[in-house]
Amino acid sequence: MPELHQLSVAELARQLRERKVSALETAQHFLGRMAAHRDLAAFVAVDEDVTLAQARTADAALTAGSAGPLAGVPIAHKDIFVTKDFPSTAGSRMLAGYRSPFDATVVRRLTEAGAVTLGKLSCDEFAMGSANESVAVPAVGHKAPAAVRNPWDRRRVAGGSSGGSAAAVAARLAPAATGTDTGGSIRQPASFCGLTGIKPTYGRASRYGMIAYASSLDQAGPMARSAEDCALLLSALCGPDLDRDSTSLDVPVEDYSRKLNESLDGLRIGIPKEFFGAGLAADVRSAIDTALREYEKLGAKLVEISLPRTELAIPVYYIIAPAEASSNLSRFDGVKFGHRAAQYADLIDMYKKTRAEGFGDEVKRRIMIGTYVLSHGYYDAYYLQAQKIRRMIADDFQEAFKRCDVIAGPVAPTVAWKLGDKSEDPVAAYLADIYTLPGSLAGLPGMSLPVGFGEGHMPVGLQLIGNHLQEAKLLNMAHRYQQATDFHLRTPEGY
Ligand code: GLN
Repeated sequence: MPELHQLSVAELARQLRERKVSALETAQHFLGRMAAHRDLAAFVAVDEDVTLAQARTADAALTAGSAGPLAGVPIAHKDIFVTKDFPSTAGSRMLAGYRSPFDATVVRRLTEAGAVTLGKLSCDEFAMGSANESVAVPAVGHKAPAAVRNPWDRRRVAGGSSGGSAAAVAARLAPAATGTDTGGSIRQPASFCGLTGIKPTYGRASRYGMIAYASSLDQAGPMARSAEDCALLLSALCGPDLDRDSTSLDVPVEDYSRKLNESLDGLRIGIPKEFFGAGLAADVRSAIDTALREYEKLGAKLVEISLPRTELAIPVYYIIAPAEASSNLSRFDGVKFGHRAAQYADLIDMYKKTRAEGFGDEVKRRIMIGTYVLSHGYYDAYYLQAQKIRRMIADDFQEAFKRCDVIAGPVAPTVAWKLGDKSEDPVAAYLADIYTLPGSLAGLPGMSLPVGFGEGHMPVGLQLIGNHLQEAKLLNMAHRYQQATDFHLRTPEGY
């Protein structure tokens, strides 16, 4: 009989429904695991009383037969979602100790489906980063802020910015977690930690209560072991939220579990040649090639396509995202939210000291870049140009989708790197986002699924990108692959 933390979300939900296990003992089991693996620095907030009370509520609903589809399933949330029962910090000193009066829509939807909240997960400050090293609040059980560690090799990064989510699920401290993806922050940590994660179409999940980084790009999504589990979670967390998020899509949500088993016969998979250039490490390429051959065996056809502006996605993203961030983060001024400097001479001095103390280096760097590209005299040269190229990148995808049904390639050029390797060189980290940024700029759904191992026996993820609202197709593709392989079931040693 497998232990509770080895069960998938689907299996755990079934056992809970059949009352083979209670929500309370499930929650206790995971709280115990979280306490035993604090060295990973995955959690930044836990509250046993809240978690156990939610578990009791789930048990009551299960007994009464009024339970939602995720009743009693423990889930942890990236600390970029505001929660009324746990502090919400976005990994920043600016929000240390902040409590929201309400739950983010994504959190509310999962709670309404019966999920039990295990706690809040570490992330890069305001979701800016690719390694979860740029975090300014201490993890549970730590005195000082600490980088999240990768359970496959604790000397390596878990990826970012949803690194806490990835480490927690990979180490089986939670059956699943939420993440957010602005330029790759669900897909890349999923890839680095051997998980399955999906970023839906822009507008598919509500951004209400998600602390904003770059509003035209931010999207929420699930991270779990399998596509089947992601489908369950995605069905629960997505949907229109028109009164609260003006970019929410007015399209009814699908049951993403329904099409998981469809045949892939005749499916045309586009392989962008720009995703296989000199920057792609040989170990990653070989795992991706093997996965693509598996898809051929499953009946799919590979078609070479071109996304000619792939390289431009990096400068375009690193202009648009900081521009939006500089505007979004202006609300942290010592008056409306969070931290205020203890000593100051006048109002302007209060703003300056508050922001100097509250924000970390990477956040300051992006606020400065963003302010610069939006300033009079540089707006046309940088911001406007970037917007035009963003449109061209989106058009390139539509051109490509005339020849293929989905696009596949690597998530990142390498496996997870060693802690500290890129922390002094922000541009090196930005360059590693090359394969995830184009889809983000085009607002397309994208996912990562584990397809093998590279250097140092570190997981490699395959990225699938679909056209707008094609989440079900991506999950179907991932599920069929996972029926034929077992990479998604592998567990890092010691967990
Ligand atoms: N690594 C990218 C960045 O630093 C993406 C982050 C994200 O998706 N939140 O902005």
